[in-house]
Amino acid sequence: MQELKERIRREGQILSETVLKVDSFLNHQVDTELALRIGREFGQRFGGRGVTKVLTVEASGIQFAMAAGIALRVPFVYAKKKKAITQGEAVYAAPVYSFTRREAYQISIAEKYLGPSDRVLIVDDFLATGAALVGLADIVERSGAVLVGVGCVIEKSFQEGRFLLEERGIEVCSLARIVSMKPGEVQFAGEECN
Ligand code: 5GP
Repeated sequence: MQELKERIRREGQILSETVLKVDSFLNHQVDTELALRIGREFGQRFGGRGVTKVLTVEASGIQFAMAAGIALRVPFVYAKKKKAITQGEAVYAAPVYSFTRREAYQISIAEKYLGPSDRVLIVDDFLATGAALVGLADIVERSGAVLVGVGCVIEKSFQEGRFLLEERGIEVCSLARIVSMKPGEVQFAGEECN
């Protein structure tokens, strides 16, 4: 997605060769119009595939899952990272190791919001090590739902996330694929959304 790549070049802060900060427009302050256009891109890619639900992990996937849900006219569900007191009912849970926070946590989704009649699109802001999305894919599998694909806003292609998902036969669509980065320079893969 050209607009997204330009924004990353203009506003992205490369904190190291592996960490990109995009919190002026993507995951702290959010450009709402851009988020909706991102949702439409996912809608175009995954439309007509019978998606019944979009899934993400709180917090920074929420705006894009909502935008994709709007485009596909389906609800979105976000996995919680902490068990809420209101979440007394049965849940699907999976352990995840956070690349940015360097700590392990559990994600969970109430069983009543995911089941064998669902066809799921997973959406997230970043695909890095793939830990979060592999955890979500495990939950989808356990629920008996069909995983239609994964849509990521930014993929760091030099990390193993895409490989781990594709190894499981999961279709991955990333709107900006970064092959390498260093301060002042971001290299994108040529192809869009694959
Ligand atoms: P994973 O390593 O599981 O693919 O990434 C999990 C989460 O870590 C992503 O959804 C994203 O929120 C965060 N993350 C991973 N890499 C980066 C990065 O380079 N920059 C930012 N801002 N977040 C990242």
